[in-house]
This record gives sequence, C-alpha cells and structure tokens, in this order.
Amino acid sequence: MRTVEKIIHGQKTSDGEGVKLTRLLTHELQQRLDPFLMLDAFGSDEASDYVGGFPDHPHRGFETVTYMLTGKMRHHDSAGNSGLLEDGGVQWMTAGKGVIHSEMPEQENGRMSGFQLWVNLPAKHKMCAPWYKDIQSNDIPEFHLENNIKVRVIAGHSHHTQGAVQREETEPLYLDIHLPNTKSSSFEEIIPKNHNAFIYVYEGSVTVGDGFEQQGVQIEEMAILRNNSDQLKINTTTGAKLILIAGKPLKESIVQYGPFVMNTKEQIIQAVEDYRAGRLI
Ligand code: MN
Repeated sequence: MRTVEKIIHGQKTSDGEGVKLTRLLTHELQQRLDPFLMLDAFGSDEASDYVGGFPDHPHRGFETVTYMLTGKMRHHDSAGNSGLLEDGGVQWMTAGKGVIHSEMPEQENGRMSGFQLWVNLPAKHKMCAPWYKDIQSNDIPEFHLENNIKVRVIAGHSHHTQGAVQREETEPLYLDIHLPNTKSSSFEEIIPKNHNAFIYVYEGSVTVGDGFEQQGVQIEEMAILRNNSDQLKINTTTGAKLILIAGKPLKESIVQYGPFVMNTKEQIIQAVEDYRAGRLI
C-alpha cells in the first residue's frame, strides 16, 4: 500500500488583487510532484479576502484547473472564451502558447472556496493553441460506493467511471472523495506506482495505508504519497472530504517565471518578450 511520505501545511499568501489563499504545492515541490506545478486552496467567508479577484494576467506553457467548491467566478480570456464557474464546477484551461485571462468573483458576499491546480504540458505541446472548457457541476461524472461514499471524477478514471477531462501525456487523476461520517469507511484506488500522487483533506480527517503503516492526515493538510505501491487505501472514522491528485511525471526540465512555465531560460525570455510586445493573444 502507498504510505505517506510527507505532510505539507502550505504557505499562507495572497495572489491576484489581494486574494488570500494557501499555496500547498510550492515551487520546491515541482520536481517531486511532476507533472503538477502548483496547488492553491482558497476559502473565506470574508468578501475582502477575495473580491479583488485575478484581473487580466498571462499564462504560457501549462494548464490551469480551477475547482470551485462554493462561490461564483467569471472567466474571460484573450482567445475569446468566457464562462461562469459555480458551486461544484470546474474550469480547465490549456494556456499553451499563451492567453491573457481574468478570473473575477461574481459575488460580493458569502463563501468562496475551491482549488487551483497547475498541470504541466510536455515540451512538444507547450506552444499548442489555447483550449478551454467549463464543466458545470452536473456534468462532472460521479459514482457511489457502499457506505454512501461519493466520488466525483474531474480527470482520469476511477472505478470504471471516466472523468470529465483526459490527458494523454500526463494522465492526470483528479478525484473529489466524500467519505460520510456515519460509520468508518475506506476508499481504495489503483494508481501506477511511478505516478506522483498526493491528497488534500478539506473536511474531517483520514488515515492512509493499511494496518500498522496507517498515517493520519488532518483537515487542511496535504500528504505526498510514496511511490511504493500501485495500491492506495484511504480510511476515515470521522468522515472526510478530500481531493486526490495523481499524474505521470514528464521528466523534463521545468523553468518557471511567474505565470510562464517552460523548459529553458531562453523560452522564458521569449515568453516575456512576446507578452510585452502584445503577441500573447
Ligand atoms: Mn490565471
């Protein structure tokens, strides 16, 4: 069974126009969690923590995946795409050779919470045409297991359920797992051993593994999972909600400068030049 390699608490920071968030997957973890580049968790009932949103900014070389647990966020981009992300919905954007986009709250009070994940693109696809998909909550495939376990499959496939998005090169698996608090329950998944995997618990608590090797993961903790087995078992006695993310490493060099992630420094300089010259559209 996969075991916990490390517990991560993340760094409280702000991004965009003063949006408060916790950066869980930070720069130092990019090699370890290849093909994933970043994971932010945001969640607040205070409008001042999010109303500023993320005004126009560029991206090149990777994909951004925003999963909204609660709240409303409006997306606009220079490729002409626009969409409203609402409770339980996902926005998957492939920046490719470049987009300029904004992500702005469409609410002035109430709770806003969710995640933004950055998934790398292989070198051969970094300059692909931008792509965008809004997936409303009702269109995210779900399945149920015994003990009222519910699993939402955002990407990849799990227990014969095909997720909303598939990617050939990075094979991302992105699950939102709801384990009820009525009784102890377990969720099992098979993930190729060489794929990098981690979980983040946003309600309740879990243990990972089996028997003596079980290790606890508490609310608001991320756990990096060891690449020691194809089998993963997640257990709870308190009930829990967590995301499980896994993917196939690209094993290519990663050079990041803010919103640009390429393979070489020269490509980064080119991205900055293209942005300044207005070619990133
Ligand atoms: Mn963005």
